[in-house]
Amino acid sequence: MHDENCIFCKIANGEISAATLYEDENFRVILDLGPASKGHALVLPKQHYANVYEMPEDLIGKAYIVAKKMAEKMTDALGCDGFNILQNNGVTAGQTVFHFHIHLIPRYEGDSVGLHWQAGKLTDEEKEEILKKIVG
Ligand code: AMP
Ligand code: ZN
Repeated sequence: MHDENCIFCKIANGEISAATLYEDENFRVILDLGPASKGHALVLPKQHYANVYEMPEDLIGKAYIVAKKMAEKMTDALGCDGFNILQNNGVTAGQTVFHFHIHLIPRYEGDSVGLHWQAGKLTDEEKEEILKKIVG
């Protein structure tokens, strides 16, 4: 299942070359061309799924195992001080390439990677509303 207009399909399947850190039958891990930090990489499934909602459960499980192994290897190799593993779904959430991918972002003390938000306050009213909607 590939999308002929999708750049990550082409990269994941080797039709367009990319700096590859790891490859197996299901995934390719490449360096991001617009890195947030030194070593920023992406886990790409070789099959086309647009986002987390479309990803089959067994494959997403495997994707996060790859992410964990890469985080360990990259932390050793790069000597970073921390590590963000994150994944965007939908334009509003910051997704710009609509082929599922997991960001692997090494963090260095004093770096300028901006993943911060202003903490709100969970009111009792809102808590009840959300619990009712999700848990029932
Ligand atoms: P997102 O905003 O979560 O969809 O992330 C897309 C990421 O893909 C961004 O960090 C881009 O820098 C990166 N990117 C886009 N095109 C390429 C490409 N051809 N090769 C490597 N990384 C890319
Ligand atoms: Zn694709």
